[in-house]
Amino acid sequence: MATPNTLQRRGLMFILSSPSGAGKTTISHKLLAGDTEICLSVSATTRPMRPGEVDGQDYHFVSHQEFDRMVANDEFYEWAQVFGHCYGTPKVQIRQGLKDGQDYLFDIDWQGTQQLYQKDQQDVVRVFLLPPSIEALQQRLTGRGTDTADVIAARMERARAEISHWDGYDYVVVNDEIEACYITVREILQAERMKRARQTGLIGFVRGLMR
Ligand code: 5GP
Repeated sequence: MATPNTLQRRGLMFILSSPSGAGKTTISHKLLAGDTEICLSVSATTRPMRPGEVDGQDYHFVSHQEFDRMVANDEFYEWAQVFGHCYGTPKVQIRQGLKDGQDYLFDIDWQGTQQLYQKDQQDVVRVFLLPPSIEALQQRLTGRGTDTADVIAARMERARAEISHWDGYDYVVVNDEIEACYITVREILQAERMKRARQTGLIGFVRGLMR
């Protein structure tokens, strides 16, 4: 018999955004490794594959023609140009997955977040990570010390531009310690799953209680 914790529920779209260097990738990996009910939404992109990336796992790497065809066929939930390349979230799978209670993690920028939210507010949870200080961010973006001052300055400029979109999110978490930040993000996910509107199995369960 169903207990309240195994009731049917609708999945959610969990968006994690941050300026690069604020820990988004680490937190994403930890979430995916530690929770079997959430999987990564794999975007399509026209960007060339980087060493170590796997087609179909990190991204669906597609040509410009294929991307344009997908846009024309309305196959994307949202798409955007980021740093000169096209990125988009394919609708296929996600629609059915949400109905089946599958949660999706989105590693997308603020433009994609806005579009997803406009299309489907009820399923979207938006989380933004901030660095603890501008010095800490600078340290992360300085990298291996091989980049020129100009390159680092450009990265900082981009990070500041990304930070300026913090107010388009439901939750904002300052990542001053990775484990604490991860636990907070996981708690947000857990609480959002328990929202009444997402617990589609509740009506039948409560009816049973009242019989
Ligand atoms: P990268 O090329 O470094 O993997 O990603 C570059 C940027 O594109 C990141 O900020 C990432 O969040 C964003 N991005 C990745 N996939 C998507 C997507 O499907 N839609 C949007 N709007 N942005 C994406």
